[in-house]
Amino acid sequence: MNPLLTDSVRPDFDAIAITDFEPALEQVLKENRQLVSDLIAKGVDSWDELVFPLEETDDHLNKVWAVISHYNSVLNSDELREIYKRIIALLTDYNTEMGQNFELYAAYQRLADRDDFSLLTQEKKQSIKHILRSFKLSGVALPDAEKAEYSALKKKLSSLSNVFSENVLDATQAWTFHIESKDQLPGLPESALQLLASLAKENGHESGYLLTLDAPCYLPVMTYCEDAAIREKMYEAFMTRASDQGPHAGKWDNSQTIQEILIARQALSKLLSFDNYAQQSLATKMAGSVDEVVEFLEQLADKGREFAKQELEDLKDFAKKESGSDEFNVWDAGFYAEKLKQQRFDISQEELRPYFPAPTVLNGLFNIVKRLFNVEVFARPEVSSFHPDACYYSIYSEGVEIAGFYLDLYARKNKRGGAWMADCRSRRRLIDGSIQVPVAFLVCNFTPPVDGKPSLLTHNEVTTLFHEFGHGLHHMLTTVNVAAVSGISGVPWDVVELPSQFLENWCWQEESLAMMSQHHETGEPLPKAMLDKMLQAKHFQNGMMLMRQIEFSLFDFLLHRDFTEKENNDVLALMDYVRNKVSVLKPPAYTRFSHAFSHIFSGGYAAGYYSYKWAEVLAADAFSRFEEEGIFNSQTGLDYKEQILQKGGSLEAMDMFVNFRGRKPSVDPLLKQAGMKV
Ligand code: ZN
Repeated sequence: MNPLLTDSVRPDFDAIAITDFEPALEQVLKENRQLVSDLIAKGVDSWDELVFPLEETDDHLNKVWAVISHYNSVLNSDELREIYKRIIALLTDYNTEMGQNFELYAAYQRLADRDDFSLLTQEKKQSIKHILRSFKLSGVALPDAEKAEYSALKKKLSSLSNVFSENVLDATQAWTFHIESKDQLPGLPESALQLLASLAKENGHESGYLLTLDAPCYLPVMTYCEDAAIREKMYEAFMTRASDQGPHAGKWDNSQTIQEILIARQALSKLLSFDNYAQQSLATKMAGSVDEVVEFLEQLADKGREFAKQELEDLKDFAKKESGSDEFNVWDAGFYAEKLKQQRFDISQEELRPYFPAPTVLNGLFNIVKRLFNVEVFARPEVSSFHPDACYYSIYSEGVEIAGFYLDLYARKNKRGGAWMADCRSRRRLIDGSIQVPVAFLVCNFTPPVDGKPSLLTHNEVTTLFHEFGHGLHHMLTTVNVAAVSGISGVPWDVVELPSQFLENWCWQEESLAMMSQHHETGEPLPKAMLDKMLQAKHFQNGMMLMRQIEFSLFDFLLHRDFTEKENNDVLALMDYVRNKVSVLKPPAYTRFSHAFSHIFSGGYAAGYYSYKWAEVLAADAFSRFEEEGIFNSQTGLDYKEQILQKGGSLEAMDMFVNFRGRKPSVDPLLKQAGMKV
């Protein structure tokens, strides 16, 4: 039997080979297709006869896919890459087919229309609601003529977003600037100079340094280069990419692409009976209405504006003292900000490493989680894993094993960079009434231990670990028994980052830091003076940063609310309007930020960029209850576990939040925690 197709609690990694992937997936898809057509033929429309068997087929697929996608991320190889490409093609076909299956949609709709639907449990009802919603959003409920229009628009949008990102990529790569001597790049750190020198070589220059618009080059130059003229030159090139302005004006110009994307999106929304694309985006989010999002952003802007203005004045004063000149331009902001930061709170991540040996941090994390949520974490070295570095852990609650996770902390070859949490098994009730226990993959890329010495983490890395573990707890502590809404499944996009950002707070508290820090030579915990400095650095220019994010969010949201083919279609005028409302430091008129705003024009963030701030507000407000009642208050911890973590996607997110906080979310805790006391 194919080792991926067993119904074991965890994947049997000892038995799995990548040659099993394709046959396993093909078999699951075949069985699932057969089952779906059998169910449709039978005309069933009850939970037990329709939804439960379908949940099981989804679960089979998820088990196979979770392993394949995990291997692709952490054990990549040329051979796997080829297999993976074929698998993605198979899966895409399958998902489109299921999403467009009208008879399947009709069966779910019949179930929702039954008299006894209201008798189903909340989690069952919620999962049906989600399924029907995604069928409707995929156009399956439309009459035939409109269905054709829908798929034509979808196709058009996917090719337009390709054009958009290709233009950005081409324009980014087209600009380079060669500099012969490093004397012309004063202030740049050695690491950046090395990078620029190697870029010069790669691009056929015998010597010197090459400036490019890629982030690893652009950012250090804008932050450290003492020569304002070079910063200005780069800024202009960067901020006019893919537009009608700047060094490549008119070439790779996205102006028309943006118009066409917006027209097609609004047409799509109208087909699906929404007033506009912003409203369509909110159909799957926690935010209740278009007005609510706009009010949210405007309220944040009103409260943050004075702080941002003050920060800018400070920065200008500082720049004046440094340069002896009154002139201050947008391309000076990052440069002087870095200098000011270093002068005021010079603390480097490297200095913090000795205080955070990985085993101490892990121990601290598990103890914190135990005190907060009354669950215990145990290492299970005897459980086989996908790599010797990755260890399996079990989570126990009152002596019962309720979840497990693989922890894969260290960077290595053929492993994707970054940090993330992914599900391996979802919690659900099986046919015999027993519970399938949720299992997670927690992946980081920290420096591995060398010569028997433990890995020493920076504080940033510690925060990353807590962030991912927060996602992990959301997935693992769930008590929901329907997979589609258990753990992180069915959680709206603007809420997903709540549990992760929430847990980060314990990396900034003296009491919890004492539990997770211990100098690897002296044994002392992180000194209070260092924490104070770290907090000051954390709060540095938060007002300006906030206003910048609101600028992007408001622009994105108003654009998708107001844009129509005939009126209000001047994207630049809207950008100007938003800047007048929000920005404290206005960029020159030639800038075309929108033309390279890939998040909203070729990524998934259209009318959703606000989600970043929305989730931050939720996390800060949830944590503020702990600030009021004690960061280790066990009753507060229990409430958070029961009202937020355990519920997954089974309740409306706003209800969940109100149940925990006793009121709707407030933006004030975020501002306070960011150093902006209102
Ligand atoms: Zn996250």
